[in-house]
Amino acid sequence: MKKLRATVNKIMSYLEDIAPRSLAMPGDPVGLQLGNPEADISKVLVSLDPDEKSVDEALSIGAEMLVTHHPLFYHKLASINESLPEGMVISLAIRNKISIFSAHTNFDSAIQGVSYQLARRLGFSTEKADVIEVTGSEELLKLVVFVPVGHEDRIRDALAGAGAGKIGHYSHCTFQNSGTGTFMPGQETNPFIGKSGQLEKVDEIRLETILPAHSRYNVIEALLQAHPYEEVAYDLYPLVLKGRDFGFGLIVEVDEPLSLDKIIQICRDRLNADYLRYYAPTVKAYKKIAFCGGSGGSLVENAARLKVELFISGDFSYHNLKAAQDLGIALIDAGHDTTEWPGVVYLKEYLAERLLSDGYQTGVFLHTPYPSGWNHV
Ligand SMILES: [Zn+2]
Repeated sequence: MKKLRATVNKIMSYLEDIAPRSLAMPGDPVGLQLGNPEADISKVLVSLDPDEKSVDEALSIGAEMLVTHHPLFYHKLASINESLPEGMVISLAIRNKISIFSAHTNFDSAIQGVSYQLARRLGFSTEKADVIEVTGSEELLKLVVFVPVGHEDRIRDALAGAGAGKIGHYSHCTFQNSGTGTFMPGQETNPFIGKSGQLEKVDEIRLETILPAHSRYNVIEALLQAHPYEEVAYDLYPLVLKGRDFGFGLIVEVDEPLSLDKIIQICRDRLNADYLRYYAPTVKAYKKIAFCGGSGGSLVENAARLKVELFISGDFSYHNLKAAQDLGIALIDAGHDTTEWPGVVYLKEYLAERLLSDGYQTGVFLHTPYPSGWNHV
């Protein structure tokens, strides 16, 4: 019997699936910033920053959980002083029982993370994208499960729906062969097949598939729900094979080169950028384009080395500009928050979809975006 409202723990497990904690940079305080993992949540608010505006909006809509990209405790606090902005946020959240969770560099570097969402929002396909700075590759597992004949398609669908069985652009990848399963139900059992105390021999399918390690909990949960047996026999094996690379920044190669004017227009239209500046060493059309939501300055040299012609990000510094001039790579700076916002929208849509498909009546809301605060003259 499912609960009507998801707990903080449940929502965190959904976020772990797309932005595993293990991907965070050392020292980045991702995860539950404050709150009660067991609390039932009727509404979640998703926002870029854990600031007073976000907590106020959570309060005004009755949300008991705030999910943000930037973490609350990025700098170590010596005190919680309500006369200071951070202290006020912490105090407001605790007094009103609002849990705060952040997916920061783990979401920056995740497959489908911030840079993927930026590229997609700008209309670029990320199907064959490369990562600028690879920080790791997906760990893979092999799952083997034994299923009574006739139930294998249902189980296969459940596994595929939870993230197993993907190889490249193929889904539902499994192998199956048939054999005989044996078991003897004990006294306290309620077996799907057989009687207690009698050895059963059943025609079963051995179904095997592959899955990314971070989705194992979801996959096993889906398997146990779909499988007819009281006790499900399955094995999980670690694999030497690795999955897709992940890391910071994304490179996309387009079929038809795009002019600088066209790319700038796309950024203005699709990001609602109130702030945009660029450096372009030559007048040309661009084929190899890179994206990094937030601050991509540290990736400029790597991007140029990988023959990127144009790099779209935020927060480029004077020294990034100098490097770009030396290396002959064009830059578009569309703002830190503006280039991260598509990732925030994705978190909201993803959570809403997961909660709905699991039958939870927990609503997900997007924080009203506000201008970055810069004035331009
Ligand atoms: Zn950021």
